[in-house]
Amino acid sequence: MADPLPTVAIVIPVFNEEPVLPELLRRLDAVMTGTPGATWRAVFVNDGSRDRSVTLLKAAAAGDARLTVVELSRNFGHQPALAAGIAEAGDADAVVTMDADLQDPPELIPELLARWQGGADVVLAVRRSRQEHGVRRLGFDLFHRMFQRLSDLPVPRNTGTFGLLGRAALGAYNRLPERHRFFPGLRAWVGFETAEVLYDRQDRAAGKPTQTFAGLMRYALDAIFSFSRLPLRLLTYAGIFISSCGFALGLFFVCKRLLGIETASTGFTTLVTLTLFLGGIQLIGIGILGEYLGRIYDEVKQRPLYVVKPRSPARSRHEP
Ligand code: UDP
Ligand code: MG
Repeated sequence: MADPLPTVAIVIPVFNEEPVLPELLRRLDAVMTGTPGATWRAVFVNDGSRDRSVTLLKAAAAGDARLTVVELSRNFGHQPALAAGIAEAGDADAVVTMDADLQDPPELIPELLARWQGGADVVLAVRRSRQEHGVRRLGFDLFHRMFQRLSDLPVPRNTGTFGLLGRAALGAYNRLPERHRFFPGLRAWVGFETAEVLYDRQDRAAGKPTQTFAGLMRYALDAIFSFSRLPLRLLTYAGIFISSCGFALGLFFVCKRLLGIETASTGFTTLVTLTLFLGGIQLIGIGILGEYLGRIYDEVKQRPLYVVKPRSPARSRHEP
């Protein structure tokens, strides 16, 4: 007999989250057990953790048929891990995506589910507030503000990984082949009827953020360069502006000469300043071109986004 309840998979990338896992598992269990409207699964993607995360996860999965652990062959990063989990959960009717560190409260999941069951294909958890402070907070705010201006596609503000994708959106998402992934942007690109649920983003339950500053920076650049061609256009504008200035200046000198006004020889300083200025603009231009070119190179190589460790037969409950 077919199961009348929809299958909902909660996908969670995990990298060195040993301190938060016990609480995460406890709270997830409470939510799954306490929400009867679906057949629940939780897919943990171990992204090459170097602590005991995978041991804890496997121990939990051994005693709970709802839990699956996917192990990547090394640390690939948050976005590839997320993609691996979503692919693993491919046959679910809906997928909830969230971080492991409990910044996204699992208790919001029933509300996401309710909105999906109410007809929305995609449900976004929108941060009403966030707990980060100092430089991180400043960085996040700056990024979101800049991204809003640059992006060719409106991506709802204050959304991150946390949310739910229904069947159609999932199918479309899994067909996106690109290597440099910015999940909130891709989710917006996929489209479909989208609902929003507000929540307060918590502080990490324990431990330190596992994404490094360089990692976040890469993520921000991926977001901008894969959703905007504005940097290239700005470069063209800068080129047009500077060459117009040069042309006007040249015309000015010619007129002066024709009118017989004596020109004092332009100084060394002017020359050096102009050379440095133009040289700088050109280097920035080459850098921006390089950002796009490097991304094209990565796409052309067609390497898979991640590599999954084969599962030992005893544990592969979900293997066909
Ligand atoms: N994560 C991952 N691979 C990494 C870094 C992070 O799978 O290389 C996971 C991490 O375990 C967490 C989520 O991605 O579940 C978000 O990481 P973090 O909390 O460090 O990011 P932030 O809150 O700073 O966005
Ligand atoms: Mg976090």
